[in-house]
Amino acid sequence: MIRAVFPGSFDPIHNGHIDIAKRSVKLVDELVIAVYDKPLKNFLLSPDERIGLVQGIFKDHPKVKVVGYSGLTVKFCEKIGAQVMIRGLRVFSDFEYEFRMALANHRLTPDVEVLALITNEEHSFLSSSTVREIASLGGDISTMVPRSVEEMLKNKFYDLGENNPIIPTHTFRD
Ligand code: ADP
Repeated sequence: MIRAVFPGSFDPIHNGHIDIAKRSVKLVDELVIAVYDKPLKNFLLSPDERIGLVQGIFKDHPKVKVVGYSGLTVKFCEKIGAQVMIRGLRVFSDFEYEFRMALANHRLTPDVEVLALITNEEHSFLSSSTVREIASLGGDISTMVPRSVEEMLKNKFYDLGENNPIIPTHTFRD
């Protein structure tokens, strides 16, 4: 049985992540979407909010499990008996980062193989930070994320008010 882990921050999950998850689940027996929950960076959404959104989106996919995790991703893979780690590749800058991460992870745990899927061109520009920034400025993200994510971000930014300190809003505003 092949068990794969698709790790990430998912702050929030968007259509690019969902596409990678749906394509990779066809290749394996079980896909564990692992939501990183001990932040090194400032997250907009709490671990429970991020996990809850992913769970809602994949509730009708019996081969997909959603869990939170912390610490080294390869250690988590070992702990749950996963042989494969899934990553998504967008642009060349992703490649360099993922290449280094894959080699470092392989040094730590040679038994876990990294499987990188190329993004669907429709989602190639999408990142969680782009989604957060557009949403924080009241832009339309309905083509980038599922309805549940759109609602969650709308409420989050409403609660934070105009001067939210979390998101640096420079790209889409200037
Ligand atoms: P991380 O904090 O590990 O970067 P993310 O939640 O940003 O976590 O992303 C998780 C994975 O999804 C990474 O492998 C990333 O490259 C991939 N990914 C992010 N956005 C896209 C996209 N638009 N298309 C394909 N893969 C993507």
